[in-house]
Amino acid sequence: MQLIKNDKSPYFIFDCLSDFTEIKQFVTTRHGGVSNGAYSSLNLGFGTDDDKLLVLQNRHILAQSVNIPLENFVISNQVHGTNVAVVTSEMIGNGAFTRDTAISETDAMVTNAPNVCLFVMSADCVPLLFYDPVKKAIGACHAGWKGTIDKAPSATIKTMCNAFGSRPSDIFAAIGPSIGLCCYNIGSEVIDSALRSFGSTDDIIKFDIFNRQPYFDLWTTNKNVLIEAGITKSHIELAGLCTHCNNTDFFSSRYDKGITGRFGAGIMIVVRQ
Ligand SMILES: [Zn+2]
Repeated sequence: MQLIKNDKSPYFIFDCLSDFTEIKQFVTTRHGGVSNGAYSSLNLGFGTDDDKLLVLQNRHILAQSVNIPLENFVISNQVHGTNVAVVTSEMIGNGAFTRDTAISETDAMVTNAPNVCLFVMSADCVPLLFYDPVKKAIGACHAGWKGTIDKAPSATIKTMCNAFGSRPSDIFAAIGPSIGLCCYNIGSEVIDSALRSFGSTDDIIKFDIFNRQPYFDLWTTNKNVLIEAGITKSHIELAGLCTHCNNTDFFSSRYDKGITGRFGAGIMIVVRQ
């Protein structure tokens, strides 16, 4: 990823997607907003207890920063599931200004319509962006431990294939900032679920030699899920930024003990070729 600085709010872009001039893509930081305290400062989540007017103001700041009108954003109410919405141009603005119009109970969205900015939010969970330069289709996915183990990224890819005729080998996938193996201490429910889903947890759950606690590797797991779904290894970018370690730049639910803001990742097709 590379950091884009401006006088609004700094944001990152993924290297693996940056050569495609027909799309815009970004990952936000927590800087440049107007929220205070635990939500300081660019909190983008209406689902938090932050002042909704400040969140809306933050979204306008983001829209200006990435130069995409807020009315072109599409946002869903994320529930740690594997539902994927196929977004059409009639749906632009859904969830952008108020939570009431957000796509319900959906953690991933895909589209081939231009000027539709798919936007997912996170605070430790994994935001993923997808682009198929052949069929000109995009996807965005939010995957916490549950969505990762239930293979929400794989469901996103399958939906791109079914809806737009994408081939997995053509798709580029970017794994955004999220809590790393270094900081993601987990309980037995995660181990049990991972074992049920993957059979083995040898390369994804590690025991710390000092505190003997289990730690979950969301990054490797998502990479494995993407490769299993047919994505080419060289088409995968891992941001490799731990939100817990980098809590001054990103919101981290674990670091802030649940009371924190949301950053996000977005992608939009600018022109149809
Ligand atoms: Zn960390």
